[in-house]
Amino acid sequence: MIPRLTRSIFLDQLLWMVMAGLLMGLAFPVFLRLFGFPEEEVFSPAFYALALSAGALMGLFNYGLVRIVIRPAMRTLSGKMDKVANALEQQLAEMSREEQAVCVTPDDCMVDIRSADELGSVAGSFNRLVHTLHESREIQRAYEALSRRLSASLELSDLAEQVSELIVTHNLAQAVALYVIDKGEVKPVFSRGIAQAEQLVHHPQLEKVVETQQSTVVYLPSDIHVDAVLVDFRPKTVQILPVMFRGTVVGVLLLATAQTPDEKQQLLQDMFVAGLGLALRNALTHEEIQRIAVLDGLTGVFNRRFGMQRLKEEYSRAVRQEAPLAVLMADIDHFKRINDTYGHLMGDRVLRLIVEQIRHVVREGDVIVRYGGEEFMIILPGADSHNAMEVAERLRRRAGDIEVHHGDHVIRVTLSIGVASLPEIKVDAPVALIECADEALYQAKRNGRNQVMDARMQACVQSSSSL
Ligand code: GH3
Ligand code: MG
Ligand code: MG
Repeated sequence: MIPRLTRSIFLDQLLWMVMAGLLMGLAFPVFLRLFGFPEEEVFSPAFYALALSAGALMGLFNYGLVRIVIRPAMRTLSGKMDKVANALEQQLAEMSREEQAVCVTPDDCMVDIRSADELGSVAGSFNRLVHTLHESREIQRAYEALSRRLSASLELSDLAEQVSELIVTHNLAQAVALYVIDKGEVKPVFSRGIAQAEQLVHHPQLEKVVETQQSTVVYLPSDIHVDAVLVDFRPKTVQILPVMFRGTVVGVLLLATAQTPDEKQQLLQDMFVAGLGLALRNALTHEEIQRIAVLDGLTGVFNRRFGMQRLKEEYSRAVRQEAPLAVLMADIDHFKRINDTYGHLMGDRVLRLIVEQIRHVVREGDVIVRYGGEEFMIILPGADSHNAMEVAERLRRRAGDIEVHHGDHVIRVTLSIGVASLPEIKVDAPVALIECADEALYQAKRNGRNQVMDARMQACVQSSSSL
């Protein structure tokens, strides 16, 4: 290792070259003498001065060559390195807008390789570094875009749309199907290009992925059909990927691809599936919260708050369309006795059994609401007084048939029901319809319980109050 003389390698090189030139100048007359040149000429001060000057000049000439050949290459490299560093700093400061970004393409920052030695290999390494940084920036950008898009959708249907779009944009697959695991059950969310995706929930490969939490790649099996209308060429392989969140499978993604993904696509796909895990979990939680917010925990029917909102909507629609609308208020007779005699748990069981009977007698589109402790409101859109009385009577009979065995005892329940319906009852607000049905219900109670009473049969107190 040559000792350093100054802080600049190039200056050191100049000094060493000049020193070497001077040494050569000193030794030159001696060599000439050995080759027989006359002593008085080669050892003369003038000849020494000439030889030393020539040596020093050689040193300077060499330094000049280095300056002309190596320094520009090094300056270019250092300039490009600065550019890359600036680009990274900008990116860190989240300032890298496409239009003002340095190194928009990697070529902007790469250097020409003009030397087949170490200098060339430095340039080559630098170019590779630029390429890798560029790739990593591209991937990071794509990841940010993926996460932003995925986390923006709380509704499962919105999320499905985003997934479909992102898969197409990033060319991750030609056909796709997404499933969620909801309470241990595999449910299809959406599919694009996969025919009969719903029937694949029990596919052995899919079940295996859920069970083992390991992804699997299969050559397009004959039992997974690709919809030729949506996919213009036949994908070769199907990847079945578990979508995980905190160590549990929250979904399954089925990707049908025509070619094996390259490294970059694979990385994007991994990031996409990772982001999807959180997004799916969020969407499922959101759905669950929304469900809980409107349902009664014990019986699973709508709670009073949501029921009132639904009644308001149905009332407006009925008025607008001049269609019938009926409201039933059903209350369990002497329910307190059941609680007092057999305990609250038995009371709860009876409440659930009553709801079961209500579900049997109503049609799709009817709304069952737990209005109070053991009082239910049933909204029947499209039902006039006659239809509503029929439903109520059927319900009363079914409730009367319930037999709950408790040791040697058989518990029986009866219902009293009040019915109010548009247009037979003239009211000007939805709450008035409830009041009329309630009034009829209490009339039924007064008449001896276990009966249905039509609000038309007694003076319904009209109310102008609104919800
Ligand atoms: P009536 O025939 O006049 O309607 O008499 P009732 O005993 O059914 O009416 P009351 O209003 O006196 O009692 C209702 C009872 O319902 C009182 C309350 O403890 C009970 N209850 C309310 N909510 C629940 C519940 O969620 N579970 C149980 N087990 N009981 C409830
Ligand atoms: Mg009661
Ligand atoms: Mg009651």
